[in-house]
Amino acid sequence: MSDSIAANLVMKGIGASMGIAIGKAYLLEREEVDIVERRSIGPEDVEAEVNRFKDAVNKAVEHLRRVKEDISDEHSEQAYILDSHIMLLKDRMLYEGTVEQIVQNRVNAEQALQIAVEGVKKNFKKMPDPYFADRASDIVHASNLILEHLLGTGPSRISDIDKRVIIVARDLSPAETTQIQLERVKGFITDLGSHTSHTGIVARSLEIPAVLGLKKATEVIKTGDLIIVDGNAGVVIVDPNEETLERYHSRKDQFDTYQAEVTRTSHVPAETTDGYRLKVSANISLLEEVVSAIDHGSDGIGLYRTEFLYLNRASLPSEQDLFENYKDLAEIMGEREITIRTLDVGGDKFSSSIQWAEEMNPALGLRAIRFCLQSPAIFTVQLRAILRASPFGNIRIMFPMVSHVEEVVQAKRILKEAAKSLDKEGIPVARDIQVGAMIEVPSAVLMADVLAKEVDFFSLGTNDLIQYTFAIDRVNKQVADLYQPLHPVVLKLIGQAVKAAKEAGIEIALCGEMGADPINLPILVGLELDNISMNPVSIPAIKRLVRSLSFRECSSLVKEALKQRTAADVRRLVLEAYGESLEMARFFQSNGQVLL
Ligand code: PEP
Ligand code: MG
Repeated sequence: MSDSIAANLVMKGIGASMGIAIGKAYLLEREEVDIVERRSIGPEDVEAEVNRFKDAVNKAVEHLRRVKEDISDEHSEQAYILDSHIMLLKDRMLYEGTVEQIVQNRVNAEQALQIAVEGVKKNFKKMPDPYFADRASDIVHASNLILEHLLGTGPSRISDIDKRVIIVARDLSPAETTQIQLERVKGFITDLGSHTSHTGIVARSLEIPAVLGLKKATEVIKTGDLIIVDGNAGVVIVDPNEETLERYHSRKDQFDTYQAEVTRTSHVPAETTDGYRLKVSANISLLEEVVSAIDHGSDGIGLYRTEFLYLNRASLPSEQDLFENYKDLAEIMGEREITIRTLDVGGDKFSSSIQWAEEMNPALGLRAIRFCLQSPAIFTVQLRAILRASPFGNIRIMFPMVSHVEEVVQAKRILKEAAKSLDKEGIPVARDIQVGAMIEVPSAVLMADVLAKEVDFFSLGTNDLIQYTFAIDRVNKQVADLYQPLHPVVLKLIGQAVKAAKEAGIEIALCGEMGADPINLPILVGLELDNISMNPVSIPAIKRLVRSLSFRECSSLVKEALKQRTAADVRRLVLEAYGESLEMARFFQSNGQVLL
């Protein structure tokens, strides 16, 4: 950051949606619903109070349905999010929890709701995965909506905004975000929220710049203040000086031009200048991300993290729940390939509907395929659901965290039994369903030749592979600097897995986060991966970058990289060769760094 920018008031948050917006702030004031009155009620009033609560829930459902009706077809993923929020309004812990409070503790509906919400939040707080913080905030959004109806204040009206402004709010619910009128709102910033919150997802689908999690934006910024929102760097600049303003205007022009061009070509295949074709696929965790995956030009779904269907609920999903979800996914994707990863719980993702034993080292414990093999009933339910969905699209199955070949053999046996039982029941199943193993533990790389004989494809989960190779906890900030995707050791491991896959004639994909960072791309192309998957938004820029590379040159770069001693050496090598072409791509999707 230059001195001139530092001289402005700069607030750092989370860049939730790319792009730059420059304009006047509009502080969204709302009724404070944090503190509600506590009232005791007599036994004769219990039924009426329960009905008052149910009535408020129904009104909230109605409100969300109306918001949903106004969503245009091109933003259909927002409709999915609103559907999930409509379901949340009837979430067992929230809905029945509130009714229980009214009946048992004889308190008013507002108070009962607040107690139920606190209980849900407490449950979520125990879990380290940021996903749960986001789901807790979804519950809060849902309960606020009910509360607004109970209190008769009604939902806030973002749609009433009639000037070209940047919205500044403590928090925005997905329902509020979807009401943003693109012609009136240039961008938005909030005190709360994260990259993976539903509000962030909606912001990306609207393609308006957004920075979330700024903590004190609503205290510092007043309506009418001139602000710059840099969604790429996750930065907001308040009352910028002339020089900063000029710099950002030109940066915005550059960005808008680049974005228009990248988006225009997002459906052009990723083929290098010398004819090497790379599949570029999407990683998704929620069904609602599929539309974004298609819109951003993905060749398929490289990783569907199915555990999220198990995490935000009190009981396990049924075979029918899972089947419907996978079938919907298959129908939306059509011919495109879908890689469904089987349940990867444990480690840092725990489901409240499963009994967990205390573990000293959960990342090294009963996780992913290990858990599934020890819980064949739960595993079978998921496999049956996938198999039932298989005739509706191009589905393949992938087992996570394989560390021993026997795990794959055993998992395949359970899969076969599930297929047989479906056959007996006369339920159709695709005959040729492919099975893959994730390569995310060093032992899997070392025995990749053995594993390759058991599966139809590999997918490198480098997030975990790096964690387990360097023995660093991937969610521990204190050792984050040891997390080095470009380390020669990581490249050697990838290279070895690629070699085994090529010798066996099977596909090798990569689905770790490193696939989305342009600086890694020349190396990944040179390593000869067949398929790279990433968050949907990163796809257009990565595809464009692939089209600018020569496979032959990337192969030579890998040979040099493998001779280096450190990640910094490899990084220098890549920047010397490709610095210029990487510059715009990194700018386009920089995580905190605006330019190289
Ligand atoms: C990985 O480990 O690289 C991966 C893609 O899986 P997850 O991040 O879900 O563990
Ligand atoms: Mg993993």
